[in-house]
Amino acid sequence: MARYTDAVCRQCRREGLKMFLKGDRCYSEKCAVDRRAYAPGQHGQGRKKPSEYGTQLREKQKARRHYGVLERQFGLYFNMATGMSGQTGDNLLSLLERRLDNVIYRLGFAMSRAEARQAVNHGHVTVNGRRVNIPSFLVKPGMTVALSNKSRGLDKFKTVMENNASRPIPQWLSLDRDNAQASIVALPVREDIDLPIEEHLIVELYSK
Ligand code: SF4
Repeated sequence: MARYTDAVCRQCRREGLKMFLKGDRCYSEKCAVDRRAYAPGQHGQGRKKPSEYGTQLREKQKARRHYGVLERQFGLYFNMATGMSGQTGDNLLSLLERRLDNVIYRLGFAMSRAEARQAVNHGHVTVNGRRVNIPSFLVKPGMTVALSNKSRGLDKFKTVMENNASRPIPQWLSLDRDNAQASIVALPVREDIDLPIEEHLIVELYSK
C-alpha cells in the first residue's frame, strides 16, 4: 500500500496552516508551523504571488493532506463526487469525511487521522460488530462504529479518549463514550466539516 513517507510537518508548512497531522506534537511548542511559519525548502521564504492554477492546486493539496489521501485515490473520490447529485465540492468533502479512519479521529479515539488509520489497520475497529481493517471504508447512516471489545480496555485508547473528552463531536455522529462506540445518524454535510477548504477551487482545478 502506497503511503506518504516524507516529513509530515513539511505539509503543514507548505500549506501555511496547522493541519494537526501529528497528534500531541501539534499542541506543543514544537509545532513546525509555529516555529517556522514559511514554506519549506530553499525558496520557502521568497515572496511569490500564486497563479490561479497555483491557488487551486494548493486547495486540492490541503484537502488531500488533511485526510491523508494520495493523489490517485483523491482523483477517484472526485470522480465519485461528480456522479452524485448535488454540489460536487460538497460531495467530495462528504466522501472524505465518511472514511473510517476520519470517523475514528472525529470520535476522539485517536489524536490524528494518521493514528486513526493505524488503529484501523491494526484491527482495533469494528463496523456493525465485525472487524474492518480498511481505512478508506465509507460509513453510511445506520452503521455502528466501535473499538473492539479487547481494544477499548487498552490503556492507550483510554488515555486518548480521556484527552479528547472535550473535543466536539460532529452532529452526524452519535457517540456512546462509555462503550467506545458510535452510530452514524446522517451523512455529513458541509456545515459539519470544520476545515478551511475552499472546495469550489478543487472543482475548478479538475474541470480544466
Ligand atoms: Fe502540522 Fe502538527 Fe507538524 Fe504542527 S506539529 S506542523 S500542526 S503536523
